[in-house]
Amino acid sequence: MEAKKILLIEDEVKLARFVELELKYEGYDVTVIHDGREGLETFSNEEFDMILLDLMLPGLSGIEICRRIRKTSSVPIIMLTAKDEVMDKVAGLDSGADDYLTKPFAIEELLARMRVAFKHCSNHQEEGTKKILTVNHLSINIEKCMVTVNDTEVELTKKEFELLLYLVQNKNIVLTREQILNQVWGYSYIGETNVVDVYIRYLRSKVDEAFGEKFIHTIRGVGYYVKEE
Ligand code: CA
Repeated sequence: MEAKKILLIEDEVKLARFVELELKYEGYDVTVIHDGREGLETFSNEEFDMILLDLMLPGLSGIEICRRIRKTSSVPIIMLTAKDEVMDKVAGLDSGADDYLTKPFAIEELLARMRVAFKHCSNHQEEGTKKILTVNHLSINIEKCMVTVNDTEVELTKKEFELLLYLVQNKNIVLTREQILNQVWGYSYIGETNVVDVYIRYLRSKVDEAFGEKFIHTIRGVGYYVKEE
C-alpha cells in the first residue's frame, strides 16, 4: 500500500519537526508548511490524504484555510489548537474540520485521531452506495450529502450533517452526548462535551426552527433523539 500523504501546516517549527519525524516513523509521507497562505497553495497543487492544520498561523488562519479547502474537498482535516481557544475550536469544527486536538498533545493521541479520521472517511464512502433516509418531513440523501425538509434543501456544514445523520439513523432512540461524541467526532472529549450541545443548537435553528416543526428532542440530563411522528 502506498504511504498516505499528510500535509502539516504548523508555524511552530519545533513542534512541526517533531510531528513530522514521528509521522514519518509511522510510515506516513509528510509535507510540512509553516505559513497559512503557502499551506493552502500547497494543498491546491498536490493531492493529500489528510491535513493537520494549526489554528493560529501567519498568512492565513487555520479556520479560513479549512473553509476554503471544504469548498472543493472532503479530505480529513484535524485542527491543532492551543489550550485557551475553545470557541475557536467550535468555529474550527463548524468550518468543516473533522476533529481537533489541543496542544500540547501526546503523539499517540494524534496518531489515534488520525486513524479514526481515516476510518470515518472510508465509512462514508461505503455509505455512499446506500439510500435515502426519512423521518417525518425530513429526508437525507446520503450519497449527495443532501438534507431536505418538505422538499426544501437545508444547508448544513459537514459536522451538522454527520450529527443529523447519526440521529436519524437511530431515530426514536435517545443518544447520550458521549455516544454522539464518539460516533460523530470519533473520540471522547473529556470535559468538553458541550460541543454536542452547540451543534444541536445549530441543527435546531436550521431544521426545527426554520420549518416550525419540533424534530430534535432533549431528554434532560441524558441526551438527544429525533422523533418519528
Ligand atoms: Ca500557530
